[in-house]
Amino acid sequence: MVDTEHPVRVRFAPSPTGSLHIGGARTAYFNWLFARQHGGTFVLRIDDTDTARSTEASLQEILDSFRWLGIDWDEGPIVGGPHGPYRQSERQEIYRAALDKLVSEGRVYPCFCSQEQLAKDREEAQRQGRAPRYVGRCRNLSREQVKAKMDAGEPHVYRFRSPQVGETVVHDVIRGDVVFSNEELDDFVVWKADGTPTYHFASCVDDSEMHITHVIRAEEHLSNTPKHVVLFEALGAELPVFAHVPMILAPDRSKLSKRHGATSVREYRDAGILPEALINYLLLLGFAPGEDKEILTREEAIKLFDLERVTKHAAVYDVKKLEWLNAQYFRALPVDQVLDMVWSLLREAGYVEENPDAHTLAWIRTVIQTSQDRSRNAGELIANVSYYFQAPQQYDEKGVKKHFSHPDVADRLDQLADALDTVVPFTVSNIERLYRGLAESWQVKAAQLIHPTRLAISGVTVGPGLFDIMALLGREECQERMRWVAVKLRAGQL
Ligand code: GLU
Repeated sequence: MVDTEHPVRVRFAPSPTGSLHIGGARTAYFNWLFARQHGGTFVLRIDDTDTARSTEASLQEILDSFRWLGIDWDEGPIVGGPHGPYRQSERQEIYRAALDKLVSEGRVYPCFCSQEQLAKDREEAQRQGRAPRYVGRCRNLSREQVKAKMDAGEPHVYRFRSPQVGETVVHDVIRGDVVFSNEELDDFVVWKADGTPTYHFASCVDDSEMHITHVIRAEEHLSNTPKHVVLFEALGAELPVFAHVPMILAPDRSKLSKRHGATSVREYRDAGILPEALINYLLLLGFAPGEDKEILTREEAIKLFDLERVTKHAAVYDVKKLEWLNAQYFRALPVDQVLDMVWSLLREAGYVEENPDAHTLAWIRTVIQTSQDRSRNAGELIANVSYYFQAPQQYDEKGVKKHFSHPDVADRLDQLADALDTVVPFTVSNIERLYRGLAESWQVKAAQLIHPTRLAISGVTVGPGLFDIMALLGREECQERMRWVAVKLRAGQL
């Protein structure tokens, strides 16, 4: 599949009409992996011929998404390259020259049929139960007829003179040979009445001019590919190898859309997903690394990826798997990196000063360390450490029923709070010794003291070791929170 005389050149060709979505990111990553695996070139080409829908903001977002994902491109916007420009909107002359050549060779022809006429043709085809395809009215106009219409300034498109019999075979690495009957191959439009190329034409001219060896793209383009095969042939270009990667479906097997949650790279980033987790997840959408292996670094993926083993069937999007992967990566991050990630969140929440002293900073690092391995992302971490920075605003409802209902709880909390005065220094092991000792002398289980204290101090029933939390909070803060709950309990307010 890879020929050494033609070094691998692949491309990803996004249309800048919105965000980079998970499907596009996956296609881009597969292209990138394939290029890196073969020491090839990954070209980023911007399909912005649709000037009405293309925006600069969308292009910037797409480029930002690539940078964030760590997918670098060897040729394309910003970095340039020998086959530029890499924005289709700047390649009009190249397309025009290719069109002129095909016109002179009779491979394409001008078509003057009006929209009304074409609509009528379609209705007629429908009435007769035929597939709606161009009837060929302008296919055989004489030179004189064409000249007369041109001189009269009649609006026109250019159509490709498609073969009408036989078949066109698309060799697809993932799907095998896909055979299309040429009877279905319309005389499709390559050049629009507004003087710009269609997607099919611009794409094939570019793939040919940019010496693309492998076209790896979304499955939805498979039905376009016979058109591209005949176009490549007419352009005198070598056929690239095709690989159409499977669709991504929602868990209910419907088309993945907004209602299934975040689907654009930017939304994932904003939701606290790490780029390495998303990159890892993209690989699993349509590719099984084998041996139940699911966590792979980028380097492992480059080695393991095999275009021929990409699945034919649709990949099902599984947000739980993505969140699980994110948790694995998040928990493995060095604490300083986590601190960097959550700093602005801590500031926004009003938990930290802008320039904390070294002592406070060290304390914040320790706080993070207590909760990093119980959090799946930065947002969860912030929620999980909130009680280190402020007294609980509320208390877990189930916990209240379970741990605050004993008639002695208020008294015990007060007594425990008083006893904390005797813990010097206020360390994890000393606090623990106090709790175990008091449990024994009061003849209760230590858990009966620990659970209410935890709820009083943190507002929740789960978290790091209670004595770790207490040591970090300090004696007075613990006492205050425990006494406050005792007051509330006595007043029947909890
Ligand atoms: N701009 C097209 C798309 O986003 C590119 C298709 C192709 O790769 O040929 O679907």
